[in-house]
Amino acid sequence: MQGRYNWRRRFRAQCARWTLPRENILDVLSRSSRHLSAKDIYGSLYAMHPGIGLTTVYRTLELMSRLGLVHRVSAVDGQARYALRKGDGGDHHHHLICTKCGKIIDYRDFMPEELELVRKIEETLARKHNFLIQDHNIEFLGLCDKCRSEHKSDIMKEV
Ligand SMILES: [Zn+2]
Ligand SMILES: [Zn+2]
Ligand SMILES: [Zn+2]
Repeated sequence: MQGRYNWRRRFRAQCARWTLPRENILDVLSRSSRHLSAKDIYGSLYAMHPGIGLTTVYRTLELMSRLGLVHRVSAVDGQARYALRKGDGGDHHHHLICTKCGKIIDYRDFMPEELELVRKIEETLARKHNFLIQDHNIEFLGLCDKCRSEHKSDIMKEV
């Protein structure tokens, strides 16, 4: 798998200390198509690597997020979710997060208006605060399809 080779090399290049837990954590992330919490990752590592601590998993994920290897999504339950960034700077996407069930939808089919708006906002903020913007993280919060229909039937019951 070429993708996995890439992240290993990228990570090695960016991290002074290469440790086994880090490699294992990236491995779990690279095999998942979902966004995982530190606890999820800890859970799947524990059977094979009982020596790994939850704190190590948290710290490693935060480090990898600062290095831009993973992207972080703040979740409604207070536990951030992480997913591997595929490719160098590629795989940019935005999120729709359900505040009821915690479902995270990635979308990449941006509307031209959306791209234009983000570009304008970035330009203005950069100028206003003399800030070099390198990335952004866009999250919309609300109710997913499933929770929406449950929500509707709850309201109907109240009437
Ligand atoms: Zn974007
Ligand atoms: Zn939902
Ligand atoms: Zn995502």
